[in-house]
Amino acid sequence: MLIGLDIGGTKIEGVIVSPDNSEVIERLRVDTPKTHYADFLSAVRSVIDSLMEKTLASSVGIGCCGSINRTTGKMQGANILYLNGEDFLGDLRSYYNLPVALTNDANCLAISEFKSGAAKDAQDSCLAVIIGTGCGGGIVIHGNIVDGQHGLGGEIGHNPLPGYRVDTDGPTTQCYCGSHNCNELFVSGTGFERTWALKHPKLSAKEIFNRYANKDKDAVEHVEYYADCLARILGAIVNVIDPEVIVLGGGVSNQQAIYPLVEDKLKNYTFSKNVDTPVRQALHGDSSGVLGAAYLPVMKGMVN
Ligand SMILES: [Zn+2]
Repeated sequence: MLIGLDIGGTKIEGVIVSPDNSEVIERLRVDTPKTHYADFLSAVRSVIDSLMEKTLASSVGIGCCGSINRTTGKMQGANILYLNGEDFLGDLRSYYNLPVALTNDANCLAISEFKSGAAKDAQDSCLAVIIGTGCGGGIVIHGNIVDGQHGLGGEIGHNPLPGYRVDTDGPTTQCYCGSHNCNELFVSGTGFERTWALKHPKLSAKEIFNRYANKDKDAVEHVEYYADCLARILGAIVNVIDPEVIVLGGGVSNQQAIYPLVEDKLKNYTFSKNVDTPVRQALHGDSSGVLGAAYLPVMKGMVN
C-alpha cells in the first residue's frame, strides 16, 4: 500500500492508496500547526504513524508547497514560512525505514492524472497545468515526474507570456515573483479577472463565464482572448516536450467552454500545424494532491 500526504497551509491530509486501482482506503486530516516547525513535524508524523498502523505501507509520498534546494537539501519557497530552511525530507527519512519522497502540488496533479486520471491513456508523457488562484505546472516524461535541477521543472506560470504585445495584452505588468508579464498574470483565475478589468468594469470570473454562457459579446471576446493566451503558453511547451495529453486543473479548469477553444487555437502556436494534442479537464479534483503524493515514490522508481 502507498501512503500519500497533501500538506497545505490549513490542513494536512493523509491517505492510504491501493497501487492496483488507485482506491483510497483510508483518509485522515489534521490542522496544519500555525507557528513552529517542531509542531508541524510531529503533526505530519502523527498522520503517517496513524496510517501505518492500519496498513503495511511500502512508501510515503508528500505533496507540499515549496521545493527542496538540491545543494542544501533544505526547503525553499514554501508559503508555510517556518518550513523554509528546514531539512523536512531528511527529518522524515530519519524516522521511517521506508522510501520517502516530496514534491509540489502541481507535480502531484501531473502524477495523479497520468497514473489514474485524465491522462491515464498516455503511455509516456503528459503536461498538467493548474489554472487556479495562481498558475503552476507539472511534467511527466518517460513515466517520471520532471523535477529538474532546481526543482523548477514544469513551472510554466512564471515564463513570460509568448507573443506578448501591449496593444492586445495590456501594459507591462510586474509579477510578485519579480519578472514581468508572467503567464500567471494572464491565465490564472486572478489573471482572467485582471485582463477583463483592463477593458471593462471589474467582475468575478464566475460572472464573466455566466455572461459568456448568455452570449454577451464582451464576455465571448474575453473568453476567446483567454483561450488564445492559454494556447500560446501551451503551444510553446508542445514545441519543447510535445506531450501526449495536456490536463488542466484548478478553478478555471471547471469551465467547459475553454477546452474546444484551446484545442482549436493550439495549432496556431506550434511548429507543426497538425498538432491534435487533447486538452482535458483533470479528473481527481481535490484528491489529486494526496493521490499524486502517494504515487510519487513509485514514479521515481523507489518502489515497484
Ligand atoms: Zn511571475
